Amino acid sequence: MTLLVDGVKFQTVAGNGQVPAYAAYLKAKLLSAGFAPADVQFVALGETGYLTARTPGRDRKAKPVVVLAHMDVVAADPKDWTRDPFTPVVENGYVFGRGSLDNKAGLSMAVATLMQLRRAKWVPQRDVVLVLTGDEETTMQTTKAAAAAFKDAALVLNADAGGGQLGDDGKPVVYALQAAEKVYGDWHLSVTDPGGHSSRPGPDNAIVHLATAVTRIAAYRFPPQQNEITKASLAGTATMTPGPLGAAMRAFAANPADTAAADILSADKRYIGQVRTTCVPTMFNGGHAPNALPQRAVANINCRIFPGTPRAAVEAKLVELAADPKVTVRFNDNGTIEAGASPLDPKVLGAVKAAVAKRAPGLLVVPAQEAGATDSMHFRAYGIPSFGVGGVFMKPSDSFAHGLNERVPVATFDPGVAWWESLLNTLG
Ligand SMILES: [Zn+2]
Repeated sequence: MTLLVDGVKFQTVAGNGQVPAYAAYLKAKLLSAGFAPADVQFVALGETGYLTARTPGRDRKAKPVVVLAHMDVVAADPKDWTRDPFTPVVENGYVFGRGSLDNKAGLSMAVATLMQLRRAKWVPQRDVVLVLTGDEETTMQTTKAAAAAFKDAALVLNADAGGGQLGDDGKPVVYALQAAEKVYGDWHLSVTDPGGHSSRPGPDNAIVHLATAVTRIAAYRFPPQQNEITKASLAGTATMTPGPLGAAMRAFAANPADTAAADILSADKRYIGQVRTTCVPTMFNGGHAPNALPQRAVANINCRIFPGTPRAAVEAKLVELAADPKVTVRFNDNGTIEAGASPLDPKVLGAVKAAVAKRAPGLLVVPAQEAGATDSMHFRAYGIPSFGVGGVFMKPSDSFAHGLNERVPVATFDPGVAWWESLLNTLG
């Protein structure tokens, strides 16, 4: 808890240069718990960097297990917050503050656990390396560097994904084990034209060309897809979903060719991303004067690609759908990379089930494919199985990650440390 409350005070927003100070604070804590100075390293990268702390295992030649979390947070404007985002407040059973949930809760639990194990002179089977990145919310350059440094890892356990969901009565409903993420992709579509006086329109209009192409793209539905993660996820979620939606989950899990079931799921915002690649227009801009023919129109198409589908195939589809040589389609590289799903490792699933059995006996564990992207993608891109196994249990209505008045329940912290201890004892 001290780690979390202290951690929120570091304004580790991109551009603030506060990650090294936070890392120095964490390093001092780790050293005080008995980590050897040589085992705790900060690697600087511009204004940020990543911190690693190694717990040496019995078999030093075995591939290490990486425990992953991120130190940076999304920006927060104090004007919009009820409380100052960087002054941690413990109130009504919550710790409030930017990053209190994403990801300083998960990070602090993992650090507290490793400190506790270090004090107890724990020796895992193989090296366990804590890796704390410093720009997960922005460009993931530290993640990229850390993944390259640990590309021989056997396994990544990410504290920034996965977690327990509580019902409104506070009782656990399900545990989501994150094993896959959609692949992110932006494409810029543009049309240029000589333009001219708007009183003398010709057959070509940049806005009309682009709008027509964008409309065709928006109307298109990528074919339904399934992998073992989404199959297990939908089958598991079906057991607690009544009515036609639950039936559609069951039907689609049993038969990915069931397009009627896929249509029902696609009509629900919560599940469309589980069923297919989605591409939607997110920005549109055109023209330069009310009385001039547009010389330029640009749009952004944002795609969330089903893992395993090459981005090049999505791009080819966009070009085909645009069906207009005047429309230029260009991939906008923001540094995200293509990574497949992690095959469901029975050892990891077993370890999560064992930790769940201690914390919430009988609770359903469901594998999950996330719509967003985390640090895991850079490790998955190296083929390292990476699982979001966060120890936070909370109500969806309490989740304000990236948003205003972010908070985390105090009551989740100590069980979260026991959670990580259980996982690491099994998998370390
Ligand atoms: Zn995060």
